[in-house]
Amino acid sequence: MDKKIDTIALHGGYKPGNGEPRQVPIYQSTTWKYATSEDMGDLFDLKASGYFYTRLQNPTNDFVANKLCEMEGGAAAMLTSSGQAANFFAIFNICEAGDHFITSSSIYGGTYNLFGVTMKKMGIDCTFVDQDLPLEELQKYVKPNTKCVFGETITNPTCCVLDIEKFAALAHNNGIPLIMDNTFATPVNCRPIEFGCDIVTHSTTKYIDGHGSSVGGAIIDSGNFDWMASAEKFPGLTTPDESYHGLTYATAFGKGAYITKATAQLMRDFGCIQSPQNAYYIQLGLESLAVRMPRVCQNAQKIAEFLESDDRIAWIKYPGLKGDKYYDLGQKYCPNGTCGVMCFGIKGGREQSIKFMDSLELVTIATHVADCKTMLLHPASHTHRQLSDEQLKEAGIPADLIRFSVGLEDPDDIIEDIKKALEKI
Ligand SMILES: *Cc1c(COP(=O)(O)O)cnc(C)c1O
Repeated sequence: MDKKIDTIALHGGYKPGNGEPRQVPIYQSTTWKYATSEDMGDLFDLKASGYFYTRLQNPTNDFVANKLCEMEGGAAAMLTSSGQAANFFAIFNICEAGDHFITSSSIYGGTYNLFGVTMKKMGIDCTFVDQDLPLEELQKYVKPNTKCVFGETITNPTCCVLDIEKFAALAHNNGIPLIMDNTFATPVNCRPIEFGCDIVTHSTTKYIDGHGSSVGGAIIDSGNFDWMASAEKFPGLTTPDESYHGLTYATAFGKGAYITKATAQLMRDFGCIQSPQNAYYIQLGLESLAVRMPRVCQNAQKIAEFLESDDRIAWIKYPGLKGDKYYDLGQKYCPNGTCGVMCFGIKGGREQSIKFMDSLELVTIATHVADCKTMLLHPASHTHRQLSDEQLKEAGIPADLIRFSVGLEDPDDIIEDIKKALEKI
């Protein structure tokens, strides 16, 4: 659809026919009925497209995936049950035991664990790299069995902006795709495909849902990566799949090859499908995403500037601040705003941080981020509480780091709440 993102957010993906519901219908059905055995057989052979069992595909999910696909400027997309499932599928669709990939080390903790512990147990090795290294340095980590490069547009929780074009060059110079988690920027603030990214993932749990209602994930393929040009690296896509009667995805499905394979093999075997009910909530969130993101960024900018000017704040990281290390990359890749998440430290360290958090009234303490309500988390007291200050330092998370996620409230009310809490420390 050749429209602006605000319009696609409302009209993309689902095109009701005459007399059909205006809002995306929820197909609350596990299964579909067919007239003949052959009709059904053709679906199993991937000769015809259609629905037969919701573990693989459901029309509600597909409407929502297609909307997100249009918003990202992709060619094909799928929903998953969570962001974790999306990142796992995105990599596992092209990596198997004995393969290797490169990832920025500044990624979401859950993804770090998935890559560094669980996927390692499956025989898939990865190298965590400093994403700010120059291209020549990054190249040194590429091995003959390296199958992709991974990063986050804006990292959770450290708010670093990735140089997408540099990572795309690293990937493409080596005949492999770039996969990016675009959760924090959302397609409203950045469309990584426009800068050379091949595959985009999301935790739709965050801004896309926007209202803390449903855990979910998505994978969007640009369709731009030429699998056949690196055929020997990606046998799963470029040689016949015995579990599908010798069908070769890259030649049979063109720009839809990667998503078809992920659906036909990974969804079939792992079953991390989104529920159509949750897909519906995600769709409601998508409809207002393009209105919410500018307001979230405007609020965050005001709060970041307030925090930066307060003596009780030891340090702050927000790419919207002029002095921030990532200001220029933020301007380049997210000219309309980055996201609503920032992190900062309070003078006095861990103890004062706890006092500050406990004194807030409007801002909630929650293991969630990128929501319409303002919330915060203190990794040293919550997600990383088993670590000593020394271990926290090694993990790159200072003991005083507070992850602060700005929502849609009136920013003056948020600032008032912060001021009152700061007075108590
Ligand atoms: C939350 C998050 C995830 C994991 O998503 P879930 O929906 O919680 O499984 C992955 N990547 C990023 C950047 C996240 O913020």
